[in-house]
Amino acid sequence: MVLYSEAMNQTVRPRIAASACPHDCPSTCALEVEIFGERTIGRVRGAEDNAYTAGVICAKVARYAERVHHPDRLTRPLRRTGAKGSGEFAPVSWEDALDIVAEAFIRAEQAHGSEAVWPYYYAGTMGFVMRDGINRLRHAKKYSGFHSTICVNPAWAGFIAGTGKLAGADPREMAKSDLVIIWGTNAVNTQVNVMTHATRARKERGAKIAVVDVYMNATMRQADLPMLIRPGTDGALACAVMHCLFRDGKADWDYLNRYTDAPRELEEHLRSRGPAWASRITGCPVETIEAFARLVGETKRAYFRLGYGFSRSRNGAANMHAASCIAAVTGAWLHEGGGAFHHNDAIFHLNKSVIEGNDARDPSIRMLDQSRIGAILTGDKDALRGGPPVTALFTQNTNPVAVAPDQETVKRGFARDDLFVCVHEQFMTDTARAADIVLPATMFVEHDDLYLAGGSQYILLGPKLIEPPGECRSNHDVICALANRLGAEHPGFAMTPRELIDVTLQKSGWGTLADIEANRWIDCQPDFATAHYLNGFGYADGKFRFKPNWPEVPFTRAHRTVTSPMPRLPDHWDVIEEADAEHPFRLATSPARGFLNSSFTETPTSLAKERRPEVMIHPDDAAPLAVADGDLVALGNRRGTVRIHARLFDGVRRGVLIAESLWPNKAYADGRGINTLTGSDAIAPFGGAAFHDNKVWLRKAAG
Ligand code: SF4
Repeated sequence: MVLYSEAMNQTVRPRIAASACPHDCPSTCALEVEIFGERTIGRVRGAEDNAYTAGVICAKVARYAERVHHPDRLTRPLRRTGAKGSGEFAPVSWEDALDIVAEAFIRAEQAHGSEAVWPYYYAGTMGFVMRDGINRLRHAKKYSGFHSTICVNPAWAGFIAGTGKLAGADPREMAKSDLVIIWGTNAVNTQVNVMTHATRARKERGAKIAVVDVYMNATMRQADLPMLIRPGTDGALACAVMHCLFRDGKADWDYLNRYTDAPRELEEHLRSRGPAWASRITGCPVETIEAFARLVGETKRAYFRLGYGFSRSRNGAANMHAASCIAAVTGAWLHEGGGAFHHNDAIFHLNKSVIEGNDARDPSIRMLDQSRIGAILTGDKDALRGGPPVTALFTQNTNPVAVAPDQETVKRGFARDDLFVCVHEQFMTDTARAADIVLPATMFVEHDDLYLAGGSQYILLGPKLIEPPGECRSNHDVICALANRLGAEHPGFAMTPRELIDVTLQKSGWGTLADIEANRWIDCQPDFATAHYLNGFGYADGKFRFKPNWPEVPFTRAHRTVTSPMPRLPDHWDVIEEADAEHPFRLATSPARGFLNSSFTETPTSLAKERRPEVMIHPDDAAPLAVADGDLVALGNRRGTVRIHARLFDGVRRGVLIAESLWPNKAYADGRGINTLTGSDAIAPFGGAAFHDNKVWLRKAAG
């Protein structure tokens, strides 16, 4: 194996190859990768001539060679030899490993029916072939379905509630804006390209940057107007801003009458929701709210970049909707550099039917909620949708033992003696340690795949550039090998990744594999009038909805509606896990800069930068508890207890705690990760996990 440092010291000139970032980040940067020979990469850079990436990528991907050539990579199939979760494994051949997995699936099916097998995946890679091909096996074998909820549902539903579809103003227009509002995303940590375009507007046009977040993070520190709010109170801030816009004559009534559904009702509804009301809820001073409203009201080209932070609260969909309403009140959509944006899902119209085997799908097969994996594996009848227990689990691209909420329940589920677990992974994650069979997986430069940049407008190709180390195999190879053993039939199992990419592009109307190979990416941006909804919003009457009918919001991924009466009009929806006498703090588990979910928690540079798990606490909250900077503290609630080091930090509102994540469980004093404290109750209207919405107590802990 060639180490990163050896790759860096190569004296031969590298070949430069085009690729795309595979990680769960809205930017999906266009990459240029240094290649040394058949098995080694060097530095990774952003493609200068990609209009969104614009030559800039985050530091963790720039040093991707640290991951590819990491000495701890899994390179051989492993079979558990010790007790479950003991981490004791012995190498086994691929043939034997696949036979064991197939036999376990067949046994589960014979005992309880096909739904006893649950293929479970997520966004460790965002490539369609390697991420979504698992669904082809699931459909062909009628295994339990995977209702993806853990990330996007509340935020997507909230945005679509207003616009009627998930698309918005071209993100590159941020550079032509006079006011960029970054709300609910720490872009410096999680999608650095937003900052590229926002700061360009500041340099070239004197634009202002306003940021709304729950702590003074790196993005807030770059803001001209930072607005520090309590977690889950964005709806109150949005209402107060709109109150001021109506009050001060800054609402665009021509626009409202033409493009929106109920502007007079909204104005009336907001009369009692002014800055003083919002200040009590958000903790943000009245003057700051007034200053923000003034800035929004006086700036035609105001661009609202709304992020995934909204998804992490029980009222997240309502909050996202409320924030998205502001651009409709001012008519910012009319102007280049104005409007709102969250994700571009609707512009790509990708047809993944062959990759996913959708023609084989049986709609009567149950869909199990990804976020409820703990409840599902511990036999909760509602979570199992009244069906059989899950007795065989197969995971690709995800690490639920660290990532999923309600971690103690998840661990109990994985510890079941009657549950067989196969994990196809790149490193020995918390989930891999809990497996019966561990299979070594390729990384993005070692296989062919196709990517979509939801935070911009590109489809990108990520071709295979080097050979994988050891015996690593791609997700596609493993799925096809299992299909063969299980007697699953579908034309997709006989196709190569390149053939799947080609047919997917052609079925979607985006040309061929040869075209994208020649051009590296496809710019799918619709024209200005379409992107700005000048021909009408996504509903049949063309009107933006201030008054959405929540259960009917056209969110195509909904498999189950969470019945909960949601606000009729934008509001502060008081369903968050508020602090109480027993739990005086509210905890948010925000993303760390050096990690991406649980990826990069193994690379030396990320580990050196992030140091250790810490919880940020306001000094005035720490003092009465005799907690000093660096002390070990215990955080707890009814879901469990976590021991973690305290960092005194005055960049949070009193009563708010921030634990940047996501560290492996073993990094914590007792092996209990931060998701011990997060809840898995489903969020309205279509499910989700409220990672930033936890009431906890805090006390000094013994070392
Ligand atoms: S900014 Fe996001 S998309 Fe770009 S390289 Fe980093 S993780 Fe990948």
